[in-house]
Amino acid sequence: MHFLVTGGAGYVGSHIVRTLLRQGHTTVILDDFSTGHRWATQGQEVVEVDLKDLPALRAALAGREFHGIFHFAAKSLVGESDEEALLYYQNNVDGTSNLLRVALENGWHRCVFSSTAAVYGNPVTATIDEDHPKAPINVYGETKLAMENLLEGVCNSKSFGAVCLRYFNAAGAADDASIGEAHTPETHLIPRALKAAAGNGGDLTIFGDDYPTADGTCIRDYIHVEDLADAHSKAMDYLQQHSGFVALNLGTGSGFSVKSVVNACEKVVNRAIPHTVGPRRSGDPDSLIADASKAKKLLGWRPKRTDLHTIVASAWAWEQVRPVIDTDGG
Ligand code: UDP
Repeated sequence: MHFLVTGGAGYVGSHIVRTLLRQGHTTVILDDFSTGHRWATQGQEVVEVDLKDLPALRAALAGREFHGIFHFAAKSLVGESDEEALLYYQNNVDGTSNLLRVALENGWHRCVFSSTAAVYGNPVTATIDEDHPKAPINVYGETKLAMENLLEGVCNSKSFGAVCLRYFNAAGAADDASIGEAHTPETHLIPRALKAAAGNGGDLTIFGDDYPTADGTCIRDYIHVEDLADAHSKAMDYLQQHSGFVALNLGTGSGFSVKSVVNACEKVVNRAIPHTVGPRRSGDPDSLIADASKAKKLLGWRPKRTDLHTIVASAWAWEQVRPVIDTDGG
């Protein structure tokens, strides 16, 4: 089959492209390269367009045929989102609205959407299922929820199917280390810890050790990007048989504290990671753990790379070979 992958030059999007190619599918990558990388496009046709620009989007995609869309293109920095609400709403929500308009005009009626646990906000239960209240605590989460709502509205009013995949903490890299995570700035725990281990970018700061958890640091559910990619492919298979809207959590169901992640990184790299404990980072809930039983049931999906050592080892293998990122988006 032939798929459109928006944001296909980004971290999670490029891993989905890789999985689709391995399965014998073809893709067109749509990306504005604001944060994506040309080295991540894997020889696929690239349409360089900004989703906010409806005429350009129409012109670039009119008359094409796709069996479905994987929609990743979005701004995704929590801190930045609170400072640049307008930019985030325009980019994420208006961009999605334009994409759906063009999809309907061209008769493409399936979308697998890259959503996030940030739609839930602060957890009110130990594990989070899809019925948990949706109360985002940052603009990023608000825009992702608005994008989901847009998709749901289109599903309810047109012949359209959408699966929204709410990831917990995406981590790791391709099994062959051919692609992986490369954000600028890098804000995520595992790559930051590994960079600190490599003496690159200064010491790691642990953001708070006074949380009400066993070791005082925040607990997160880390899900390997190859397992995420597998779920996306299964979600698109599901949409070949079903229309309508569904949202599914993707996580392993196991929580690891920041300190246990740092320990796992130290074991993988076989050296101490220089770190200090700093104040809490604003907007960090104590603990986020997925109940992903709905995705398992509906998609027949099972995460396979669930132990922390495997996830960190995969991220470390990538850190050894990754390209140096230049300032034009690389
Ligand atoms: N974290 C940290 N130091 C860092 C980056 C992250 O202590 O340099 C903590 C962060 O406060 C959170 C956890 O690691 O508790 C995971 O953060 P990350 O940014 O990787 O993902 P998030 O949960 O924010 O999506």
